Amino acid sequence: MSEAEGKPAEKKGAARRKPTFDPRLAEYRGVWVFVERDLSGVHPVSWELLGAARRLADQLGSEVGAVVAGVPEEALDVDSREAIAYGADVVYQVGHPVLAGYRNEPYSKLLCELVKRHKPEILLLGATSLGRDLASSVATTLETGLTADCTELAIDRESRALAATRPTFGGNLLCTILTLNYRPQMATVRPRVLPSPAKVRDRSGQIRKEEIELHEEEIVTKIAQFLPHVGDQVDLALSEVIVAGGKGLQKAANFALLEDLALALGGEVGATRAAVQAGWIDPQRQIGQTGKTVRPKLYIAAGISGAIQHRVGMESSDLIVAINTDPNAPIFEVAHYGIVGDAVALLPLLTRAVRGRIL
Ligand code: FAD
Repeated sequence: MSEAEGKPAEKKGAARRKPTFDPRLAEYRGVWVFVERDLSGVHPVSWELLGAARRLADQLGSEVGAVVAGVPEEALDVDSREAIAYGADVVYQVGHPVLAGYRNEPYSKLLCELVKRHKPEILLLGATSLGRDLASSVATTLETGLTADCTELAIDRESRALAATRPTFGGNLLCTILTLNYRPQMATVRPRVLPSPAKVRDRSGQIRKEEIELHEEEIVTKIAQFLPHVGDQVDLALSEVIVAGGKGLQKAANFALLEDLALALGGEVGATRAAVQAGWIDPQRQIGQTGKTVRPKLYIAAGISGAIQHRVGMESSDLIVAINTDPNAPIFEVAHYGIVGDAVALLPLLTRAVRGRIL
């Protein structure tokens, strides 16, 4: 169950415990994704998960299922067609007034019931606030294993089990967890960790409308009011250009240099935990293990050492440019271009150069 079944990543030369597989679990088939919807539509992590589900299902020779639930019916139809375009073979669609706005009880109930009815082998959810809340209660109710915050999903050849990889020991090690004796095997993955699959508009798939008995009077949680988040509303996970700074920028005022360059490039400002803890920038902008995972086209790291906890949140960026006074700083191990120099002096020059090209 959960990480109790986990095993550390193999050491070179170490004997590998032969995984066993309970044949009674063979009736579980298919790789499912819970499609997360909120007031602004489907969370993009759902499409990223469908891309991974497609890859896993092809390896297993099984189908990809998507669960689309909520209201109104017309919006569900649109989302179901999108899910097919992103790789689902079958969409299990549940429309019910009780599902207007997320609450743990009805959503847990519907997901558990669908799992019991159709027996998927693997169930994936986004490691968002909603996904974490729902995944943990579904795994507890179904008494199965859940691996949270995965960075990689694969199939273990010997056992056919999901090999879910995640950071452990403060991000210093990666461990791969197999859930051998329970089904479905559940995992959550953070937004932007996986690439978004191509959308194939004319892909065909089946939409199955499922009935689940839900009664408002049985639900303890009530939605009194919806209050939108106020304050720094940036969604770094979706930014295509990020100019990030760390303690090497020396003081809060120097973060204005990052903002100038980000503005010139049409990007956003990000930061390390050290800079956030110094009070130089809003915690919403922290990137890394305990912050956001990002995957921009361009990531500029200024005055950032490149600690593993920071790198796990940004190393999948398409192009990484690092500026650091220390030529041995670990950030240079993941950077495509490195500048050994003073970021405080270099950032205004870069901004000027970018503005000069644009004007
Ligand atoms: P430092 O490590 O102090 O590095 C500053 C760098 O700036 C140095 O490399 C230095 O050579 C360089 N420098 C100095 N002056 C200049 C200059 N003028 N110009 C250019 N370069 C200069 N960190 C995160 O970022 N995100 C996380 O989500 C996160 N989660 C964590 C979770 C746990 C459980 C733990 C234990 C730690 C976590 N950390 C996280 C902290 C992480 O380990 C590092 O301490 C942090 O990333 C370091 O931030 P930094 O690079 O800004 O600072």
